[in-house]
Amino acid sequence: MTLRNIAARSIELPNRVANSTAGKARNGLQAKGSSLSRIRTTDLVRSLVLTSMMSKTWLMKPCLAFLDAVTRSKSAIINADRNPFLNRVLRWTIYNQFCAGSNSTEVSRSMGELRQLGYKGVILGFAKEIVLDPSQGAHVAEDTKYAPACYRMIDEWKDANLDTIRMLSPGDFLSVKLTGAGPICIAAMQAREPMPAVISDALDEICVETRKAGARLWIDAEQQILQIGLDDWVIELMKRHNQKGEPLVYNTIQAYLKGARENARRHILQAAREGWGLGVKLVRGAYIENEVRSLIHDTKNDSDQSYDDIADMFISRKVPQTDGQEELSFPTTALMLATHNAASASKAMATHRDRAAQGLPLTKLECGQIKGMADELSCSLIEDCEGTFTTDDKTRTEAPGVFKYVAWGSVSECMGYLYRRAVENRGAVERTQHMVDALAKELRRRVFG
Ligand SMILES: Cc1cc2nc3c(=O)[nH]c(=O)nc-3n(C[C@H](O)[C@H](O)[C@H](O)COP(=O)(O)OP(=O)(O)OC[C@H]3O[C@@H](n4cnc5c(N)ncnc54)[C@H](O)[C@@H]3O)c2cc1C
Repeated sequence: MTLRNIAARSIELPNRVANSTAGKARNGLQAKGSSLSRIRTTDLVRSLVLTSMMSKTWLMKPCLAFLDAVTRSKSAIINADRNPFLNRVLRWTIYNQFCAGSNSTEVSRSMGELRQLGYKGVILGFAKEIVLDPSQGAHVAEDTKYAPACYRMIDEWKDANLDTIRMLSPGDFLSVKLTGAGPICIAAMQAREPMPAVISDALDEICVETRKAGARLWIDAEQQILQIGLDDWVIELMKRHNQKGEPLVYNTIQAYLKGARENARRHILQAAREGWGLGVKLVRGAYIENEVRSLIHDTKNDSDQSYDDIADMFISRKVPQTDGQEELSFPTTALMLATHNAASASKAMATHRDRAAQGLPLTKLECGQIKGMADELSCSLIEDCEGTFTTDDKTRTEAPGVFKYVAWGSVSECMGYLYRRAVENRGAVERTQHMVDALAKELRRRVFG
């Protein structure tokens, strides 16, 4: 199934947008044959079974309850790292589908397999959520605000990130979840205070090590109660570490927010005025069920339009209008489209390709999907990039890279991550059905020729 077919079938998109997307896509996106043909048959079958289950609302309920129990349980029977039988079953079914492995050997094998499929690189994150033991408490005496356990959490979180960096290859991404650093970090973010020195030092070390590995890093976006403070911190980090060359640090912008366009403009203007490189991961946003609803666009179509407008702002390199007489050039920018929405990806690719064809300045563009999900989109994107950006050496270097996001950790450590992904995708039943159709079609093609 080609990217333009997938895009045209995206029934959640308004017809006007879907039509223009498919029209633009027709100009350049030229996937050949079945793009899913690069996936191994065992992976294809597992993917088909799991995705079919995810597309059935009645099946999702008991599955989520089971995942929740496995995630929370401390019992030897339900803890996947203590019960070898359960560990095996979970590995064969969900863990191998979505996770990279539990040690560096397994992780590098999984990452190698993804590269062989044509992915330009991998976005790797440590799955374990570092949870403070309530018996240790967050606060102690008045003069020392936090207990030593809170500082130990920051060290553990930093070490987990440094371990992850050691598994990266040049061009890969480290995915950093700042809330994993615990109460000191969360409280300061929520109060919109400057980054505490202990967090700032840890992040600087993580940035330096990431650069040494030739990789890059992004900071995950959180709910608005934290994100406003977090935006300021990540801008500080970009100012410090994105001074030369391509951006090392990326912030995340959530397009489902009514304020997202304005936030994107603010980022562009500040980078242009202050002369640092702007890295942005663009997502729609994962917290619709827990966020203050009025902050989020009223309809899905509005979120889609916002996503496409912001992507276009970066790809078409539009300097936002200002009140003053400023002469600003578009800053050095890199954009990661983190989405499973084929229409948005297709539209952005078409604009990027048009600009490349016209010899216009380009923003570094990349796309990312989660391992085990939206494979039909990822494979089509790879095929489209290979097929239409390789006509000569110049366009080859401008071809957007396609990445897979994957978490690593023991089976038990990854359960929380898998539970969150399952909850996040509960509402995406229609999109999941498209994936089932594409996987089933590919399986029929292999069986019946
Ligand atoms: C690689 C990767 C990294 C990610 N990192 C983050 C992150 O750091 N932080 C984060 O918050 N999310 C993150 N996400 C999740 C992301 O925000 C989306 O929840 C998820 O990708 C589904 O959106 P979609 O763009 O793939 O497409 P779709 O499935 O087309 O869009 C679904 C999304 O549309 C929005 N939406 C749905 N219904 C409505 C409605 N009625 N009104 C308004 N909006 C609606 C919601 O954002 C929903 O998640 C990441 C996703 C990927 C693929």
